[in-house]
Amino acid sequence: MAKISINLATGSLQKEEIIVGIDLGTTNSLVAFINPDKEPKVINDAGKGVLVPSIVHFGAAGDITVGNEAKDFLITDPQNTIFSVKRLLGRSYKDIEKHKDFFSYKVIDDDSESLVKIKVGDTFYTPIELSGLILKELKERAEHALKTPVNRAVVTVPAYFNDSQRQATRDAGKLAGLDVLRIVNEPTAASLAYGIGLDPEETKTIAVYDLGGGTFDVSILQIQSGIFEVLATNGDTFLGGDDFDRAILDYWIEKNQLDRAVLLANHELSQELRLKAEEAKKSMSHQSIFNEKVGEIWCTLDKQTFESLILPKVNQTIDCCKNALADAKLSISDIDEVVMVGGSTRTALVKKMVSEFFGKPVHDDVNPDEVVALGAAIQADILAGNRKDILLLDVTPLSLGIETMGGLMDVIIPRNSKVPTKAGRQYTTSIDGQVNMKISVYQGERDLIKENRKLAEFDLKGIPAMPAGFPKVDINFLLNADGILKIQAIELRSGVKQEVEVKPTYGITDDQVEQMLMDSITHAKDDVAQRMLIEARTEGEQITYTVENFIKKHGTHLSVAEISDTQKYLVTLKEALTSGDKDLIHKAIDELNEFTRPFAERLMDHAVNTAMKGKSIEGAVD
Ligand code: ADP
Ligand code: MG
Repeated sequence: MAKISINLATGSLQKEEIIVGIDLGTTNSLVAFINPDKEPKVINDAGKGVLVPSIVHFGAAGDITVGNEAKDFLITDPQNTIFSVKRLLGRSYKDIEKHKDFFSYKVIDDDSESLVKIKVGDTFYTPIELSGLILKELKERAEHALKTPVNRAVVTVPAYFNDSQRQATRDAGKLAGLDVLRIVNEPTAASLAYGIGLDPEETKTIAVYDLGGGTFDVSILQIQSGIFEVLATNGDTFLGGDDFDRAILDYWIEKNQLDRAVLLANHELSQELRLKAEEAKKSMSHQSIFNEKVGEIWCTLDKQTFESLILPKVNQTIDCCKNALADAKLSISDIDEVVMVGGSTRTALVKKMVSEFFGKPVHDDVNPDEVVALGAAIQADILAGNRKDILLLDVTPLSLGIETMGGLMDVIIPRNSKVPTKAGRQYTTSIDGQVNMKISVYQGERDLIKENRKLAEFDLKGIPAMPAGFPKVDINFLLNADGILKIQAIELRSGVKQEVEVKPTYGITDDQVEQMLMDSITHAKDDVAQRMLIEARTEGEQITYTVENFIKKHGTHLSVAEISDTQKYLVTLKEALTSGDKDLIHKAIDELNEFTRPFAERLMDHAVNTAMKGKSIEGAVD
């Protein structure tokens, strides 16, 4: 693959450029690079610290703060301070519903399976935009510290992230003006930081134990010829160092005989105590007694008490390790190495119990909250071709995907994927009774298919007539070692099937590939903005369609006022759809949903609830 880069500041082409590694974390994010001595190093811009809290604050004057400074607003302005956005990335409201109390800001409940949005003031933000703001901050810090433009990055995600969460992470990078060369699993990056997997001769099975601020996961990886395969992952997305802090706080409340309700009502004091609890916890990794006061409240902690407080939580993580091994059909003796990741693994009890469970010493020499970013930097260096000892496997130079509603490119195999590879996704129809689906296959990096290169087009015919959103069409891409792409579409309810083959590299030169990559970088911001508008429009159109059908079907069960008010909301939505303003569209959708939900629920209309499952593809009714 050709290696090029563009200096956005000058517009000139650069052959050599630093590619950074980014750990976009739930609690903290950071960026690392390979220094001229070929060592991975984390970036500490102007002494601001290495870890950037993954927090975004929106000020009343339209000012946006990211990182440490945003953290203070968690107490003073919680509605406008977004934390833990990674939990929402690529998620629908349904996915996070049972944890909604966790968020102090407004997560929009569309009552549909579409991706969540967050409302700050009158503006709707997607988790992609918010993550984009964090990535932008990291990019700027890196540029400031390295004194050079940074345009390309490797970004890490948890091994359990699904396809849409990975795509969301790529899009966030795009919004930040970063060309995301590859999405790498966090456990893979951590292993690389320990040099595990760099030797192509080596075959190993490793366990990566990652205990962060609010999440825990353990991954079992198999490494063979430099390829990492995830055998199993397990964990708890609501278990982490924050729970240790809470346990200490609870202990102090009890010790000082404080009234919990009174304390919780005093945000400032409870936050101060929580921070003190975190400080006490951290001190336990180098001392055995903590003794301080917050006002009149004694904040004491000794190591033995601390360990008894957190023991149940640590036991929970060990159970997850057992489950992961069982899922991978392995026993403890099959694990060759254990790697510790995440700030909370600094806790001595955690190290001890994990080491005892696996029956061997664990890797913990590298800073556990930096290890993922450092590994990402190593992966970036490998991709840049700077490591002659490591074979750069054949990769796809351009992304491969299909057209979805509104002329959008839906990437199925992202660029830089190793060949051979296979990937697939499920789609559905957009209108009732749709019996044909036109599948158009494209290659390229732009968000709109009209800017990409068309590879093939075929019709999946004979889908039985069903309401929109009901058919389940699996589209699978198989790219073999010879670069032949086989595209297969199958409707799961009826079994109708269609297949074609193309060779994506046929008829395209390296220069054209370079040009396409360049265009995607220069147009990244506009592209994402257009995609978001089109997605909002498609969502609005689908909802209009569903609600109009609903009224036709159930009109007799609705009051005259209900119908006429719904019509008013529909008119507002239709006007918004022509406005070109995605926020206006989201607002109108939100209001229509709020209004119609009670009677949709009353009539238990399943069509309303089941509509819009997944992305849909246009087609003909007959
Ligand atoms: P994430 O991957 O979720 O972004 P991190 O890996 O940065 O999170 O871990 C953050 C957590 O690590 C916080 O709960 C923090 O209190 C905890 N932590 C940091 N240093 C220590 C320490 N010395 N002892 C115990 N916990 C620590
Ligand atoms: Mg992490």
